[in-house]
Amino acid sequence: MHEIGIVSGILKTVIDTAREAGASRVVRVLLRIGDMCEVVPESLDFAWEVFREDDPLTLEAALEVEEVHPRSRCLVCGEVFAHDRFHMRCPACGSGDTHLECGRELDIVSMEIETDD
Ligand SMILES: [Zn+2]
Repeated sequence: MHEIGIVSGILKTVIDTAREAGASRVVRVLLRIGDMCEVVPESLDFAWEVFREDDPLTLEAALEVEEVHPRSRCLVCGEVFAHDRFHMRCPACGSGDTHLECGRELDIVSMEIETDD
C-alpha cells in the first residue's frame, strides 16, 4: 500500500509548514493527485486517518483530493488526448510514442490553518 508513504510524506510537509506559520492546528489540506499515481482513495483516506493522529497539529485535519485525469501529446502527429491509466496510444494515428502532459502530479494545493491569537 504505497498510500502510507504518500501520506507520511505529505503530513511531514504539512506539519513543517504549519509549524513555521505558527499554526495551532491544521483544519484542511487540499491535494491534487493524478490518476497515473495509482492512488486508491480509500487507502489514502485510511492512511490519513491513522497518521494524522501522530501530531496534535493534524489530529483533526480534513483531507480533500482533487483528481487529475491524464492527458498526453502524440509525438508523431501532435494530437493531445485524454486517456485512462491503461490506454495511452494516440487515438488519431495509433502511435504509442506519446508524452504524458499531466496526470502524474502529487501536490499540496493549499492548506487551511488556525492560529492562537
Ligand atoms: Zn498521433
